[in-house]
Amino acid sequence: QPGKPVEDVKRELGLSEVIKMASNENPYGFSESAKAAVIEELSYTNIYPDGASVELTAKLADKLGVQTNQIIFGSGSSEVILMAARAFLAPGDETIMADETFAQYKHNAEIENARIIEVPLKNGKHDLPAMLAKVTSRTKIVWICNPNNPTGTIVSHEELTAFLNAVPSHVLVVLDEAYGEYVKDAAYSDGVRMLPSYRNLLVLRTFSKIFGLASLRIGYGIGHPDVVRFINQVREPFNTTRAAQAAARASLSDDAFVARCSDENHKGIQYLTAQFDRLGLSYFEAHGNFVMVDAKRPSSEVFAAMLRRGVIVRANWTYYPTYIRVSVGTPEQNEAFIEALEQVLQEVTV
Ligand code: PLP
Repeated sequence: QPGKPVEDVKRELGLSEVIKMASNENPYGFSESAKAAVIEELSYTNIYPDGASVELTAKLADKLGVQTNQIIFGSGSSEVILMAARAFLAPGDETIMADETFAQYKHNAEIENARIIEVPLKNGKHDLPAMLAKVTSRTKIVWICNPNNPTGTIVSHEELTAFLNAVPSHVLVVLDEAYGEYVKDAAYSDGVRMLPSYRNLLVLRTFSKIFGLASLRIGYGIGHPDVVRFINQVREPFNTTRAAQAAARASLSDDAFVARCSDENHKGIQYLTAQFDRLGLSYFEAHGNFVMVDAKRPSSEVFAAMLRRGVIVRANWTYYPTYIRVSVGTPEQNEAFIEALEQVLQEVTV
């Protein structure tokens, strides 16, 4: 259901208005300069893209203060996850991840026939000491999602440093910062700044979230040149499109758009959590562009009742059967969500 086009949901339910707050998309769209860049690039649709994304890589490397051979692009950061699993995991290798976390780590590890070790979250947060305790000589990748999807919690710079200092060098640590640009907490780590100290660290970021380019599919990994070269061996030659590269290049020059989205998102989180407080609902500390809240009722029923009112959220988490995850929308969308939720809390019995 959550991945369904809004138009289909509208037609099926006979609703005139449907709000999708289920995929952590940017409700403010994307940079106007990215739009102009895509329109211009469309004239070259008959010409293959630059497989190595040379211009974009140079611009991003400059912005991040890394070398160009430390960056690899993917068709979304999802493809970088796929490529990292493909390159590093062989059948029987062990890989460690949190439970719950972003589903694609497990999905790709399963495709590679790796042995998956899932470590429950502790109060909605990655339990890094428990994850470290599971590392063996067969461990190839540890996945850390920071902020974590779906809970929105972060591990601090201090916690992450302690983990990276202790984890053996044969283990690749994939640090997924898909929502990193939204975080305002001073305790948060910037994975890219940690790269000089850890050769076995791969940081993932994306243009799908705060930059609003989700449909164009472009994300990237940043790591040691040896790690990047190794992953690059399994990359399809033309894995990102001209339009995506052009939009990403333009987006990197529009800091004002990113700053505005980050500030609006922060206000949205404050509004939503204040409303949850008023309604007596508990939630995890939210650092991304979504909040996971305990509706205190079976989440599948809450999901269905919200959908009938034209609001799509996420539900059905193994460890959190009564929680829903809502993406931060515009102020109007957030208010509509709260209005619907209040009705649903009356309708669905505890
Ligand atoms: N990582 C996390 C934690 C996500 O939540 C998502 C998407 O929701 C992704 C990666 C993948 O995003 P994309 O492939 O659009 O870059």
